[in-house]
Amino acid sequence: MGASDTSSPSKSADMAQSEEVFVGSIDQGTTSSRFLIFDKQGEPVAVHQEEFRQIYPNPGWHEHDPNEIVTSVENCIEGALKIFEKDGHKKESIKAVGITNQRETTVCWDIKSGEPLYNAIVWTDTRTAALARELKAREGSDKLQDICGLPISTYPSVTKLLWLLRNEEKVRKAYEAGNLAFGTIDAWLIYKLNGGPKNNVFVSDPTNASRTMFMDIHSLKYSDKTIDFFSYEFDLRKVHMPEIVRSADEKAFGKLTSGVLSGFPITGCLGDQSAALVGQKGFEPGHAKNTYGTGCFLLYNVGTKPVISTHGLLATVAYNFDGKPVYALEGSIAVAGSGVKFLMNNLGFSSQSHKISELAETVSDNGGLVFVTAFSGLFAPYWIDDAQGTMFGLSHHTERGHIARATLEAVCYQTKAILDAMEKDSGHKLSELRVDGGMSNSELCMQTQADLVSIPIVRPKMRETTALGAAIAAGFASGVWKTFDELKEVNTAGQTTFQPKMSAKDSAKMFKKWERAVSMCKGWVAEEEKEEGDEQAAKELSEESKKEGQVAASL
Ligand code: ADP
Repeated sequence: MGASDTSSPSKSADMAQSEEVFVGSIDQGTTSSRFLIFDKQGEPVAVHQEEFRQIYPNPGWHEHDPNEIVTSVENCIEGALKIFEKDGHKKESIKAVGITNQRETTVCWDIKSGEPLYNAIVWTDTRTAALARELKAREGSDKLQDICGLPISTYPSVTKLLWLLRNEEKVRKAYEAGNLAFGTIDAWLIYKLNGGPKNNVFVSDPTNASRTMFMDIHSLKYSDKTIDFFSYEFDLRKVHMPEIVRSADEKAFGKLTSGVLSGFPITGCLGDQSAALVGQKGFEPGHAKNTYGTGCFLLYNVGTKPVISTHGLLATVAYNFDGKPVYALEGSIAVAGSGVKFLMNNLGFSSQSHKISELAETVSDNGGLVFVTAFSGLFAPYWIDDAQGTMFGLSHHTERGHIARATLEAVCYQTKAILDAMEKDSGHKLSELRVDGGMSNSELCMQTQADLVSIPIVRPKMRETTALGAAIAAGFASGVWKTFDELKEVNTAGQTTFQPKMSAKDSAKMFKKWERAVSMCKGWVAEEEKEEGDEQAAKELSEESKKEGQVAASL
């Protein structure tokens, strides 16, 4: 499979015990790709990052160019390796490569040519709101969450795939010809990095497959029941779907077939939020982490049995390294750092994220302002798709600082609501919350979080925990680490703990105001507007399909 390279680490298994070993990690995020090389102590010794285009063709639509994603990853590998070798390291000491990726984002491609048939539809995209409503109204929709862990919404990959089948001619034609391949970003990347149709390495791990709604979360196999449910218009058995394999595997993910690391094995794969839990070493039931990136995702390790939430959370796979899967309860918040970016890009508040936090510090409190940042509706634990971004409490007193502060606070309130739901679902109270992600750089945001949830917030010094998680998965499969115990000391030095300082009474008062704001923004997108929006979207769609056809043709 793939080009061979005499410098491949798989062929130098008898390396001297004392030789330093490294693991590479591809971190394919929503706004950028990175490649990091970690040593055995979990320290990154080389990093390269590249942003790629965010495509917003219509309100609520969010796309990526699948080929651009692959190129950005290849560039990152090259960039990081240059630094690595310049520092005197030898690439032969890289034992394996792991992959972590944005989840749910959906790619359709032609299984024969290996070329994408449409842009990737990103997890934040809400064009499927009407379709999700239609699916929810179908008999049996309420049974799906027990099987796959997720409720129907715009969020999982299935609605994106169905939308593409309905609306995009190229996708439908490939389906009719039996050539349609569907995958999340992990499957797409692994397929392309392995040389595409030539080697046809077409796999996904359970942490990613559990985000499609096609996988039975109990058996980690495709579920006939959910596939039947969604097959009322198109027979989804005709769509090529990746084989579901373990998150750490010596062989299943193949190897890189081009570039500076050609021949190096890919031995680990985890969806980004599961990777962050692993990178935070959340290996015991009761461990939890919250990642404040573009969105914000709280994962709580529930052990070896999935917990199907009755309080608005999702059941997901934390990891499956050895055939004994570990599960998590998840609270997903659609808008976190993207709220900061909104203040920067749309309102011109600043050109740097940390300045938004500094702006928020210019005021002593939110001045009575609550900003419900429901740009994609509200996700967990509310799941309100007819909410829209709304500010409550504007007055002559309101300054930009208040708006900045209210934007940071919005994520903290939603995290508090998620933790309350987790306590109800699991019956346990969390003792501390580990955090990471770009927005966790904001001291104010983290202190506010501690004040609102009344437990310590622990932030590691090295915050590339998502990439570290993928490296750990790959390192387990390639023998770099053998037990969780060996990882105990990894990334513990220099962590910061934010202790709650606010009185319980004040904290409860703030939260109550937030809850009032949430209840008041419900139903803002009225039924007739939704229908008009759907009609308008359908009209725009036919034009957009033509335009996108041209873009795809020029790829
Ligand atoms: P992703 O992996 O989802 O692309 P990252 O973890 O890289 O996201 O986080 C990027 C987000 O964090 C951006 O939206 C950025 O605006 C925000 N961010 C970064 N630094 C800060 C800061 N000091 N204060 C507030 N937000 C920040």
